[in-house]
Amino acid sequence: MQYPFEFHCVNDKAINAFALPGGYVFINRGAIEVADNEAQLAGVMAHELSHVALRHGTNQATKAEAAEGFLGIASGVLGDSAGGALLTRLGAFAAGGVLLRYSRSAESQADILGTQVLYDSGYDPRAMAQFFEKLEAETKGKNPPEFFSDHPSPEHRVERVDEEIEKLGGLPPNLKRDSVEFEAIKREVLALPVAKKLKPGAAGTAGVPALPSGNFATYQAKAYTVKYPDNWKKFPDTQGSGVSFAPEGGVVDDGSGHGALAYGLIINVAEARGEAEDWDALSSATQQVIQELQKANPNMKVTRPSEHVRLNGQPGLATYLSNDSPVGGQETDWVVSAMRPEGLIYFVCVAPQSSYDKYDKTFNAILDSVRFAK
Ligand SMILES: [Zn+2]
Repeated sequence: MQYPFEFHCVNDKAINAFALPGGYVFINRGAIEVADNEAQLAGVMAHELSHVALRHGTNQATKAEAAEGFLGIASGVLGDSAGGALLTRLGAFAAGGVLLRYSRSAESQADILGTQVLYDSGYDPRAMAQFFEKLEAETKGKNPPEFFSDHPSPEHRVERVDEEIEKLGGLPPNLKRDSVEFEAIKREVLALPVAKKLKPGAAGTAGVPALPSGNFATYQAKAYTVKYPDNWKKFPDTQGSGVSFAPEGGVVDDGSGHGALAYGLIINVAEARGEAEDWDALSSATQQVIQELQKANPNMKVTRPSEHVRLNGQPGLATYLSNDSPVGGQETDWVVSAMRPEGLIYFVCVAPQSSYDKYDKTFNAILDSVRFAK
């Protein structure tokens, strides 16, 4: 079981960290700032990657705000190169909606595996549980850190960890606890400017993005090329299959400090198998994707049953949905899907219902421009 773990630091003061199925681990600056030493930070990371390795993310109930929260992180990611890449995964993620609240037994398992990871890497294996205990003690009775809303504390956390350390043969000699590098990084993080919250694009003209340009730029992914208005920004994900496009102002605050795509397009590939011409496979894979979208967006409804279309000459399905728009009112989501060797590719075209007419032509032009790799 090999995961290509990726760690990202998020410019968010909330004490939190989280992991996504697939091996993406996010650490808020708040967690770095509050850690007493490197071993505690390593402990949080070990705990998060244990959730991934134990596949805690794959089967649980989804959480809409969490998915949107993920989209919101984009604006706060430290470092500009990661920002673009993330937003998209975020988009894709909002679509898939997989963030979750772990159960107490999952927490215990992540503690045990996390302790083993710390032990094997030479860190003080007690540091993880100590960090969680410290957070709890410091916030007793008042605002518990965000972390505990996703990771409820298991019973007897410290005792369980101590038992595990005994099983591993007791505390190893020469434990790593802290380093000059960690202290330097912590100082650097503490001095960082706080990320600007996304501007709410509230109703009214202030937040309304410029209309899509009639000039198109080309985006080349491994499996397809697509053209998009040259005044939109592209946010490819790091795996090369998913990408989002949005105009300036197209991603807005959903009201809770989290970002959401109000105008633009998300392209993603979902796991599915079937021949390009197999309408049944296309239809059932599309249904599944729509259900996933609805899980992440509880008010999303199909407004027109799927219609047969052609996408680069091959069978496709087009489905209209409505959903709450993050800029208020309703939005239209036009989902167009087709079966490809790498899975079900789907395009989610998003605009507020009131201005959808102004985007319709652009969305059609984008979909007409799709060319699949041979
Ligand atoms: Zn956990």
